[in-house]
Order: sequence, then structure tokens, then C-alpha cells
Amino acid sequence: MKSISDYKYEELLDRAFVKLAGRKGSGEVFEMPKVSMLVIGGKTIIQNFRDIAQILNRDEELLKRYFMKELNVPGSVNEAGQLELRGKFNATAINQLLERFVQKYVKCSTCGSVHTKLTKKGKVFVLKCEACGAETTFQAF
Ligand SMILES: [Zn+2]
Repeated sequence: MKSISDYKYEELLDRAFVKLAGRKGSGEVFEMPKVSMLVIGGKTIIQNFRDIAQILNRDEELLKRYFMKELNVPGSVNEAGQLELRGKFNATAINQLLERFVQKYVKCSTCGSVHTKLTKKGKVFVLKCEACGAETTFQAF
């Protein structure tokens, strides 16, 4: 038979779990998108570029400029929504860059939620979390 003190301990544990789950964004899991790409004639083409921008809820223009800046090459988005970058890059490098983009410009550094908004204010980006309300600013590019 349970004593009253045992019961209270379990109750406290339950509460602790609820708090933990809440902090991690109600247990939802964000699946990091992976690039699907081709290297043709000295160009690297990210075929699912548009889908990735949509999954991350970020502007295609911003994501394009990010890749161009990080790889230091010119690039453009074609009619099919694919990003064409000059130069040959491997998928591992591109996926790593994408992951870094998510860590910095999508994920809230306070609560880990990906439900955020990125806006440009003058020379800075403001990342505002819709889950916990935290705001982070970075130098814009
Ligand atoms: Zn947050």
C-alpha cells in the first residue's frame, strides 16, 4: 500500500515531466530537411530548394543569399524553384551549411522551437520566437 508521502512524490514527478515536455515545445519533433542536389557542368543545383525554404518558413531570397555568402559564389533560383550555384559542392557540405542556417536563423536559442519569425530591421535580423517570446538579434546579411 502507498503511503501519503509516496503519492505526493509521484505527483511531483508528474508535474516535473509536464514542465519538461512543455519546455521542449509540447514534444513535437522537427525533422531537419536534407538537400537533394545535382552537380552538372560546373554548377551545383539544389533541386528541393523551394521545399526547404517552405519547411523552414524562410524567404527563398534570404536562403539563397545565405548559400551565396557562405560558399562565396554567385547563384540564382530558376523557374522550377531550384537553386543553381556556380561551382561543385558536395551534399555533405551543403547539408552542414543548411543545418547551421537552421541553428542560427530558425531555431530559438532559448527554447529550441522552430516556430519563429525572422525580420530585418535596418542592419540587423531579429529572430522572434512564437513559442516563448524570446528575441535574438544578429548582424544582417
Ligand atoms: Zn523560444
